[in-house]
Amino acid sequence: MTAAIDLRGLRKTYKGGQAALDGVDLSVERGAFQGLLGPNGAGKSTLIGLMTGLVRIETGSVRLFGHDPERNPVAARRRVGLVPQEVNFNSFEPINEIIATQGRYYGLSRRAARQRTQAVLERVGLAERAARKPWGLSGGMKRRLMMARALVHEPGLLILDEPTAGLDVEARRDTWALLRELNAGGTTVLMSSHYLEEMRDLCQQVAVLKDGRLIANDTPAQLFGADAGSGTGDQGLEARFLRLLEGGEPEEEGEP
Ligand code: ADP
Ligand code: MG
Repeated sequence: MTAAIDLRGLRKTYKGGQAALDGVDLSVERGAFQGLLGPNGAGKSTLIGLMTGLVRIETGSVRLFGHDPERNPVAARRRVGLVPQEVNFNSFEPINEIIATQGRYYGLSRRAARQRTQAVLERVGLAERAARKPWGLSGGMKRRLMMARALVHEPGLLILDEPTAGLDVEARRDTWALLRELNAGGTTVLMSSHYLEEMRDLCQQVAVLKDGRLIANDTPAQLFGADAGSGTGDQGLEARFLRLLEGGEPEEEGEP
């Protein structure tokens, strides 16, 4: 069976900048819970942007369930839900309309979009506010709205860019619970974060980006050590990660 995500040789240099991505290959199996870990500026959002059409592909290829999103955008788009890093819904549009509009964009009929909107709002606990505008929602609720919007068309792959950044503990726990539930139901999840603990606790596999290069892609136990799942010694977890980043310095090019 084709992988959910297959990335080959992705490079990206923004105008006037250094390489944001410098040759990334990554394959994610269907049903996986894949983490994308890296410090700020490592290239996580660029990688997600390339997969979801927000950033133009210059070099390399992206396949989502075997589809090339540039040649076959509709087939790819219908299988993918995106929760972007920044809040990007219209605060003047009622919550249920934000979600139904997205459903229509993904090809749902009017009726299906309405039904699915109700279902996802219930799922994320926003059903009572459905007819209201998202103004005044807490940070956690805004995230849940973004999550509902990404799920309206029941995508096989959910991509989230730092979905828990800046959330309080309770909102983060809600997010984790929802992601675990979706993944258990068969949804492939790709999530970026710079929080080591949540990568360790949630993901089956963690890809580590540093300066636009993938320096590791392994299970949390392999990456952080066999006791990484014990829940103690987070100092140790951080220290291990820093060692990984240091040890992962790419080789100089042009060596014999
Ligand atoms: P991350 O999400 O891991 O923090 P990004 O993908 O946002 O990393 O950024 C990777 C690199 O590309 C950084 O050096 C950043 O400054 C640069 N960058 C990101 N977006 C743009 C842009 N639109 N224009 C120019 N440079 C950018
Ligand atoms: Mg980012």
